[in-house]
Amino acid sequence: MGCDVWPRERAALLQQGLAEVSDFLDAYVDEEGDELYRTAVGDRGCVFLREDRGCRLHHTGLKPEVCVLAPRHPEEADEMKEEELLPCHDSWRYGGPAGP
Ligand code: SF4
Repeated sequence: MGCDVWPRERAALLQQGLAEVSDFLDAYVDEEGDELYRTAVGDRGCVFLREDRGCRLHHTGLKPEVCVLAPRHPEEADEMKEEELLPCHDSWRYGGPAGP
């Protein structure tokens, strides 16, 4: 599964040429009534995961808010992974200079 992106974030990524429409699934409304887009996944996870390591949106200023704010601690990371909300988790390298 991919991560959830606000409509304004998706629009900005498309406008800046950092994403294509196919990089997102159709919009859906979550249990809190928010409209969201989930990022599509490829063989290795989220489509924004780079071939070597890390998120290719990391240095663009347009990394999805959820990927910046969460997880706040290892337990939350485990919970999100169980819910398949951290598609790039398996490629994380703790302690290195470049994060996801
Ligand atoms: S941080 Fe991970 S889940 Fe979020 S956009 Fe980047 S590759 Fe995708």
